[in-house]
Amino acid sequence: MPFHYDDQNIFAKILRGEIPNDTVAETEHSLAFNDIGPKAPVHVLVIPKGRYVSHDHFAAEADEAEIVDLARLTARVIAEMGLSPGEGGEGYRVISNAGDHGVQEVPHYHLHILGGRPLGRMVQAD
Ligand code: 5GP
Repeated sequence: MPFHYDDQNIFAKILRGEIPNDTVAETEHSLAFNDIGPKAPVHVLVIPKGRYVSHDHFAAEADEAEIVDLARLTARVIAEMGLSPGEGGEGYRVISNAGDHGVQEVPHYHLHILGGRPLGRMVQAD
């Protein structure tokens, strides 16, 4: 089944400048901004500017410049927030939710960067 992208999703509106955001960093292909409902002291969302719904959609259809740009911008935010264990930081978690089981709220591909406190285990056991 082809991927369906909804142009009315909230991150599409942010990218079009229709609603404001608290920008952390921006590149040609990607935008990083603070999550409106932070779950940790650092909670930054990193999104591609292209119309992708999920990680697998992005990996399949984005060009290499977009993929490298998103990966590098994510690393830049991690470094600038002082989270990188390689640079003396306490660490972080990068996650991306997709679909119903992933409990994805906004259907525009995004990475969550979480840090600034111990984050607990990744997934709660049943
Ligand atoms: P998901 O569940 O799709 O992985 O996460 C969507 C995230 O987007 C949530 O953490 C939510 O707080 C955040 N979010 C939803 N609406 C807005 C908004 O209008 N602005 C910002 N900055 N974040 C939003």
